[in-house]
Amino acid sequence: MRVVLVDPSRTVLKCLTRMLETQGHDVHPFTDGTEALQYIKLNHLVDALITSSQLSSMSGRELCLEVRGIAGCRRPIYILMMSSSDERRIVVEALDHGADDFISKPPVTEELYARLRAANRIVSMQRELIRLAATDFLTGVLNRRTLFEKAQELCARAEIGGVLSTIMFDIDYFKRINDSYGHSAGDEALRGIAREVSKEGATVGRLGGEEFAILLEGVPLSRAVEIAESLRLRLQELEVSIGEKKISLTCSFGVSQWQADDTIDVLLGRADVALYKAKTDGRNRIVVGECMSDAAGYDRLKSAVRSGSRDLQKSVAA
Ligand code: GH3
Ligand code: MG
Ligand code: MG
Repeated sequence: MRVVLVDPSRTVLKCLTRMLETQGHDVHPFTDGTEALQYIKLNHLVDALITSSQLSSMSGRELCLEVRGIAGCRRPIYILMMSSSDERRIVVEALDHGADDFISKPPVTEELYARLRAANRIVSMQRELIRLAATDFLTGVLNRRTLFEKAQELCARAEIGGVLSTIMFDIDYFKRINDSYGHSAGDEALRGIAREVSKEGATVGRLGGEEFAILLEGVPLSRAVEIAESLRLRLQELEVSIGEKKISLTCSFGVSQWQADDTIDVLLGRADVALYKAKTDGRNRIVVGECMSDAAGYDRLKSAVRSGSRDLQKSVAA
């Protein structure tokens, strides 16, 4: 485990570090709580904090509380409080300040190892639960909820001067693949597509069914269109093996760039409208989402998409 160890004494730190390193732990020792906290904030791979109750710039309890705040439900960190006093009040306070466990100081070697084995079981399980909650079970890319959360984060960053583009795409005539080769063949096609798109290294999510979205931070519209075109060609070439057979498919794409005051819904909505147009224009193509300065026009387009109207141009003109 990656362990942050905090104690005011360098001798104690040295001794405990050696003890933990013999068990293969990656130990980062600090004499100061504030510095340890800073390190934990910046290093997302820290699994555990072992802290003494008495520190200099902040107390062990304060450090526990701060680290518990950082940990939340997205980041597991196991907190083990150490104290030379095993007075019940100290133990209760440590737990109430966010510690998961308590050990007396100096710790008995075998007990410390056993407590860290328990910590490892819990942190590994939490990491797995976080992964399962964030990803789409079938394809392994982000699920819809996580993609929207990520998009919200990126929109907030765009708001303060960043660039953000999105690509939405949908498999063409996917129903025919299910109908002709069976549902599991369709599933295999979805997995194959997700694998290929993930090679892009961008944030990819499955919005639902056979529809995916890609978030491209720092990428302007022109580059996003190039990426979409390269994907379109690669996906068109992709051969999905279904038993002895190899099937191929195509996708339609909608691309849009974040514009001032865009919410996620507007940004994705614009890509969605463009994607719908790519479908009605003949599929296997890319359409760029126009900037809708006229809110009523945008709403009409959106409702045309939602109601499944095949005549988008008429809807815009209405
Ligand atoms: P279009 O080109 O207009 O997008 O046509 P389409 O056939 O791709 O679209 P349609 O919405 O008619 O059909 C989508 C199909 O996707 C219907 C549904 O059964 C199938 N589907 C949705 N989710 C899954 C899934 O997880 N696995 C499989 N195999 N099929 C799925
Ligand atoms: Mg489709
Ligand atoms: Mg669809």
